[in-house]
Amino acid sequence: MTDSEDRPAEVEEADVDPAEAAASVGGAGGAEGAEDAEFLAAAAAPAGFSVSEPTDVKDPDVINTVLRHRLPRRIMIQTTSACNSSCIFCPHTQFRDKLPQGRMSDELFRSIIEEMSQVPEQVRINLFLMNDPLMDSHIVEKIHLAKEIVPNSIIGLWTNGALLNDELTERLLTSPLDGLGVSLHAHDASSYERITGRDDFDEIREAVLWLAAERLAHQRLDLTLMLRFVGAGHFLDDDERQALRQYWADTGVLLDILVGHNSRAGLVTSRVGVIQPRRWMAGCGDEGGPRQAHVLFNGKVVMCCMDYQRKLVLGDLSGESLEEIWTGDTRRQVLRKLYGLREAEPGFLCSACEWSVPVKRKR
Ligand code: SF4
Repeated sequence: MTDSEDRPAEVEEADVDPAEAAASVGGAGGAEGAEDAEFLAAAAAPAGFSVSEPTDVKDPDVINTVLRHRLPRRIMIQTTSACNSSCIFCPHTQFRDKLPQGRMSDELFRSIIEEMSQVPEQVRINLFLMNDPLMDSHIVEKIHLAKEIVPNSIIGLWTNGALLNDELTERLLTSPLDGLGVSLHAHDASSYERITGRDDFDEIREAVLWLAAERLAHQRLDLTLMLRFVGAGHFLDDDERQALRQYWADTGVLLDILVGHNSRAGLVTSRVGVIQPRRWMAGCGDEGGPRQAHVLFNGKVVMCCMDYQRKLVLGDLSGESLEEIWTGDTRRQVLRKLYGLREAEPGFLCSACEWSVPVKRKR
């Protein structure tokens, strides 16, 4: 599964993202969607998916606003680069044989968490990034470690759920995890296979049902459990969408039904409309990019979870601290392009991303 996957502009029915925050609930949907959005906002917030800090892209001092913290308040950590799905809206399969892959060392993971513990405010630690986190056989230990070192952190995972079994479910439910999202995407096996390339829909859905039931049995209502359906406006018809709502009713599972899906900065076919690459931009419609740190398994810090090609590398934790990278000139120069203080070069990551805010002419 992927992480950042989905942002406000593509959302019609509801947009709540354990990875990205409950703040972005809303969208262009009709009455039914609006009800969902309100429900999800109310339901998700107490579970710890905190509201992200909005950025006013018209703020003339926006760069300094974004840069004012010496460490991020939100971080995505790729403890393994592996994923066991081939979703048609995810570029992971395009690059997994072309770019280095691997598992993060325990030492690096600990050092990242220890540095995040210096943040005085509550931080959100997302233990996934362009991967499936359950492919890391030590992911539960990492949840415990992160909470131990940063007790007031909010820890979240998004997974495709393929590796959920009774034992792992038990371990997750008895861990200090705050939010668990499962990208299910479909309501029947044939649609699921078409979207993800996997033929085990029934088993995964059963595993999620079991997880939901055990969550209630364990009285883990503080753990938000959410299902995501990406591109539901294209992959599911009205009857299927209605059916899945009924199917998951009364399970305690929140539904995140996204009508479209974005192009991952131009890497897959967009379902929210094709854009012309932008050389001048006025910010990002999703603060998950510029305000969140994204650490790959090898310690490289990339700009955004859209960066499957690893084009915008801000630094490398093998030789720098997170604070040095977060306050460094590379990030500052990237933000200058994103926030319209400089023209972006051809091929700049955000230029092809639907979430970049277009401007007609330079400031
Ligand atoms: S505009 Fe840039 S930072 Fe924002 S989501 Fe797109 S690629 Fe990421």
